[in-house]
Parts: sequence; C-alpha cells; structure tokens
Amino acid sequence: MRREHLPRQPKIPSVLTDEADLPPLEPFGAIKRVLRENFGNQKWTYAIAIIAMVVVAATTAATAWMMEAIFNVLAGAANAYDPYSVALAVMTVFAAKGMAGYVQQVALSKAGNSIVSQLQDRLYQKLLQQDAAWFDATDSSNILVRVTQSARAARTVIDIVVTTLIRDTLTLVGLLVVMVWQNALLSAVFLLVVPLALLGVRAVLGQVRAITAAEYASMAEITKVIRETSSGFRVIRSFGLERLLEMRMKRAVSDVEERANAIVRLGSITLPMMDVLAGLAIATVILANTLGSRVGTPATAGEVMAFITALLMAYEPAKRLSRVRVTLETGLAGVRMMFAVLDRPDANGDAPDAVALPEGPRAVALRDVSFGYGKKRNVLTGLSLDFPAGKITAIVGPSGGGKSTVMSLLLRLYDPRSGSVEIDGIDLRRITRRSLRDNISYAGQSTFLFSASVRDNIRMGRENATDEEVETAAKAAQAHDFIMEMPKGYDTQVGENGAFLSGGQRQRLSLARAVLKDAPILLLDEATSALDNASEGLVRDAIVQSTAGRTTILIAHRLSSVMVADEVMFIEGGKLVEQGPLEQLLAGDTRFAALFRPELAATTPADSAT
Ligand code: ATP
Repeated sequence: MRREHLPRQPKIPSVLTDEADLPPLEPFGAIKRVLRENFGNQKWTYAIAIIAMVVVAATTAATAWMMEAIFNVLAGAANAYDPYSVALAVMTVFAAKGMAGYVQQVALSKAGNSIVSQLQDRLYQKLLQQDAAWFDATDSSNILVRVTQSARAARTVIDIVVTTLIRDTLTLVGLLVVMVWQNALLSAVFLLVVPLALLGVRAVLGQVRAITAAEYASMAEITKVIRETSSGFRVIRSFGLERLLEMRMKRAVSDVEERANAIVRLGSITLPMMDVLAGLAIATVILANTLGSRVGTPATAGEVMAFITALLMAYEPAKRLSRVRVTLETGLAGVRMMFAVLDRPDANGDAPDAVALPEGPRAVALRDVSFGYGKKRNVLTGLSLDFPAGKITAIVGPSGGGKSTVMSLLLRLYDPRSGSVEIDGIDLRRITRRSLRDNISYAGQSTFLFSASVRDNIRMGRENATDEEVETAAKAAQAHDFIMEMPKGYDTQVGENGAFLSGGQRQRLSLARAVLKDAPILLLDEATSALDNASEGLVRDAIVQSTAGRTTILIAHRLSSVMVADEVMFIEGGKLVEQGPLEQLLAGDTRFAALFRPELAATTPADSAT
C-alpha cells in the first residue's frame, strides 16, 4: 500500500508492556514451557501424529530408495527386479505415505485446536482474576489481541516443533541414509555444503522478534480503531471525525502490512541461499561422479538416480529446517505475550484468613485511608468515614474530590495504600470476595448492560430471582412502564451495552438490577443522574422504601437526591470537610450550603431573598 502523508500519530504502545516486569523468556525455555503445559493433555493424539510422521518419513526415504529399482526395470538392466513386484511396492509405499500424511494432518489439527481452546479458556479465566488497576492500565484492544492471537501463537510453536523438527528431521535423516547407502562418497560431498545454509539465520532472529512484537501492537491498534468506531459512532459523525479515523486506520494497517512483509523478507533470506547451495551440491555430485568414473570407481546409473532423487527430496525439508528458527520466533512473540498474562498473580483471590461476614448490623467505615491510582499521588489522604448501619448517608462535594474513589474502595475494586476499609469492624481484605459481593448492591452513573434481554439484564442482580421479583425491582426503579411499552416487553433485547435504550432507561435497568440484588449494603453512585426530576422523585421514594434497614451510601450532585439522606458528608480534595444532617449543613455557613445554594435558590425563590 502506498503510504500517504499522515498527520502525526501518537506512538502505538507495545502490547507487551507488562512483559518488562517478567523474567525474560529464552526461546528454548519458552518452547519447553509451551510443550510442558500443553503437550501432555494431547499426548495420545500427538503420539498418533508422530507415528504417522515416522511412516511419512520412512515412505519418503523408501520412494527415493526405490528409484534405483524403478530405473533398472525401465532401463531393462540385467540385475533388475521383477517389474510386477516393483510396481506393487511403488503402489504400497505411495498409498502408505498418503494415508499416513492424512492421519498426521488430522491428528495435528485436532490436538492444535484443542490446545487453542484450552489456552483461550485459561487466558480468559486469568483476565477475570485481574484487578481494576490492570484493566485501567490495559487497553481493551490489547486484551482482545492477547486472548485471541497469543493462544494461536502457542499452537503455531507446537506445530512447528512437531512438524518441522520431528517430521522434517526424520525425513531428512531417512533420505540421508538412502544417500549414504547409495553412495557414501557423493553424500560426503553433499554434506560439506549443507552447513553453509544455516549461516545468516542467526543474524535475522533479533529483527524478526522485534518486528513480530510490533506487529501485535499494530494489530491491537486496528482492533482499537474498529472498536472505537463502532462505540463512538455518534461522536465521530457529529464531529466529522471520519477522516481522522480513516488516517489512523491507514497508518495501523500499513504498519501491519510493512511488518508482515519485513518478516517474510527476513524469514525467506535462506531460500535463495538454499537454491544456490542445492544447485551447487547437485553439480558437485555430478562432477564428483564423473571424476570418480575417471579414477575408476563409477556408480551405476540406477544408484545415481536414487541418490539424486533422495537429494532433491531432502531439499524441501532441509529448506524448512533452515528457516525453523525464524518461523519459531514469530510464534514465540505471541507466546511471550501469553505467558505475560498467564503469569500475572490473581488479584481476585481471598487472603488465607479471609472469612465470610458473620451476622451483623453492616456498619461501614474507612479508617485513616490513603489511596492513589497506580503510581500516581494520593487521591485520598488519611480519610476516616463512618457510615452508620441501616441509615442513608450521602457523599457530596465538588467534581474530582474523590467520591467515586471512596465507592471503588468500598467495592474493593482497589485496596488502600494505608489504613483500612471495614464492614462491622472487619477489614475488607479479611472478608471473602464472595461474601463481600453478596453483601453489597451497586448502581453507578455509567451503567453497563450486557447484550441480552431486559429480563436477563435485571436478573444479573440475582440469578435465581423469579420473573415476579424481576418485575417488582423494575417497578421500584420506575422501569416497568417503559419496559412494557417495548415490542417484546421484558424479552426485548437491549443491544450492545443497551444501545437500543435511552440514557435514563439504561440507568433505570441498572438500578433495578441493584434493587433486585437485595443486599444489606446499597451503594448508589449518581445512579439517578440521567433521570428527569419526576422519575427521580419516584425512584427516590422507592429507594427510601426499599432501603429501610439497609446501610445505604449514595453519591449525588442534585440536592433533591440528597434530601433522603440521614447524614451528609462533604468531601473535597480527598478529605472530609463537613459532616452532619442535611438541615444542619444547609442552615450553616458551610461549603455544602455554598455548593447547593444556587439549586436551592432556583427551587425555593423565597430562600433566595433571605
Ligand atoms: P465526580 O463528581 O466528577 O464523579 P469524584 O469526586 O467522584 O468526581 P473521583 O472519580 O473519585 O472523583 O476522582 C478523584 C480523582 O482521582 C480525580 O483526580 C481523578 O482524575 C482521579 N481518578 C479517578 N479514577 C481514576 C483512575 N481509574 N485512574 C487514575 N486516576 C483516577
């Protein structure tokens, strides 16, 4: 593809970013590990494939060996075998070779496909065990490429090891035996030129490794552009960003194209070398034979025929073997990427002393908590908050103050750098994840819906809920009426991330999901922000009813949502600035009153006069 002048692009980050944290994986170490972890599961299938390969190698050598007999029969030589026996032997050998080739192909594919699916399973399970920080730092296209491509790369490595190293080596050895058998002197001449072919391969390996890693990064970039085009379609249209994205895509695809070409160029460097060497070898053999006949040790024409046939047949496997390190290197780039994921520690496990939460009032607290994202500076510093059991507490404050971060810590998406988050006095790190999830319901501002029906999306709150319970939750979240107006009611598909629904409708479904869960602790992070005032009022009333007795913590930017709270906490710059009942904070000269005064003035004109 011709490269147009493209606008400056951000550098495509490597897909292998977290590899830096891992011990380097030597090629043979990587191959050994791929085989150790995957070969065993399929050992019988591979055993069948390897037996078939032995048959292929033996019959290939036999084909060359039979050339002498065939030539002698055709030339009517005095020492020729019976033509019928030769014809039968030829038929038998070719049929055996064909069948063995078929068995080998089928067995290899079966084992390979099974390995790919097992590895994809393992990679996905690993993904589910990663912490929020990893998902924050890892691009979703990058994750996609890792899970889909790297398992295939492992299969490629095994295929190369098994087919090229085993089959081609066996075939080559078989043919060499025939050559030596037919004419030891000529074989020695041939063997002298072979090692030359292996020179040069080493020189290109490093380059192949770097280019393949870069190729994975460009593939991730292509996935990213496509994904962003699909999910950001409205923004792209409304801002006319088509040209920009087109350029980004062109850059990514031409990068992949260039790298793929470079890999082939480098990988094929041995091919012309092998051709020249093969020509040289055959020419040398002819000359050596002529020379030999002058000196007085002539080979028969049949012998030379068999020898040259074996030599020509050895050419293809030898060519593949000369490239094997280069081909392996492209697979190993993916294998390194795969192990980088598989070797990550599980971040979703339980501490050895973790317990299920015992019965209790479900009071929630932050004790002297400091926290920051990744290696960044603290967002919360020495923050202590007490959320009384069975009460509604509202967290308010200016944007970026750390409110959602508090929620994330309560959900244990992250652990604090210091201090602790507790339920009934027990540190979250000492509570099993299962028990924590069972005790907390959550609905957030940015909702997420699965590509499934309305009913299934709500039911994700509680798997075993009945249809009636789903409807009751939908009613509480003011979702029932709009659901019933949809063509298939509760069975209507919502599209990818609820694409067929409005923002307010999506939020009501995610609220219904949280209500259905019916957990003793309810976390609402601006969960009604997309609703109109009337719906919000109704949802608020429903929440007050359904939250009776529950420890409810809500983040709100609207005064109307804060009204329901027993207690209000004002958080600014990661610190608790004010705390108290709503009326008390509104009445005083507080940061809270200052923040909400404009809204208060708009709703109660009388107040604005005072
Ligand atoms: P808002 O009212 O706008 O939702 P907030 O009070 O909930 O804001 P947080 O979302 O907790 O504020 O953010 C607090 C700070 O942490 C901000 O400076 C934000 O940029 C930063 N932050 C939030 N999430 C992340 C993240 N995943 N990685 C890095 N920094 C983050």
